[in-house]
Amino acid sequence: MNKYEGINFEKELPEGYKQALYINAKSVKMGLLMNFIALIVLIIVMVLAFLSLKLYDQPLMKKLNNDDVEYHISFISPFIFLFSMIAYIVLHELVHGIAYKKLTNEKLTFGLSWSCAFCGVPNIYTYRKTAIISVLAPFVFFSIVFIIILVILYFVNPIYYLMAAFIFGLHVGGCSGDLYVYILFKTKFKNKNTLMRDTGPEQFFYIKEDNN
Ligand SMILES: [Zn+2]
Repeated sequence: MNKYEGINFEKELPEGYKQALYINAKSVKMGLLMNFIALIVLIIVMVLAFLSLKLYDQPLMKKLNNDDVEYHISFISPFIFLFSMIAYIVLHELVHGIAYKKLTNEKLTFGLSWSCAFCGVPNIYTYRKTAIISVLAPFVFFSIVFIIILVILYFVNPIYYLMAAFIFGLHVGGCSGDLYVYILFKTKFKNKNTLMRDTGPEQFFYIKEDNN
């Protein structure tokens, strides 16, 4: 028997539970809303990034002559940029997967839909704590990584700083679905007995009928 069963998750929905909410990132409404929020977040992050360079009057920005700027943008930047973006999406889902695997040791699912990339653990019902850790893991981990990278690049190269800021913006915005699930746990589903089934794009929430 799996040592995490009954502690971090259940294989069957226990007696007395009922479904309280169902969300689906593949639905037109939620898919569009999530991506709209992501776009707004990205714009805010980029405005702040440009302002931060202006406010500090970045000396490196002045040192770079136009040829340098053109060279970075036309040759190196698009390549690194595209690679970073794809790598980020893959790593983001991988971090969800590592957390779910460590906490449940159950079969994972990975995929891509029109509105999002996803990772889930579709055959089980995870308890609130397991669900929160797994859902938030990429947001916490990559926010720390990106902030360190941004601080370094700020003083090294303003073009790469802005590119990193763009990917950071995609990261924060792209976590809107994950953060929505976290907010639901913090507001609607505060009971530690709450169970969640996560197929990747869809989340089903179950509560015990006697404690709501
Ligand atoms: Zn995610």
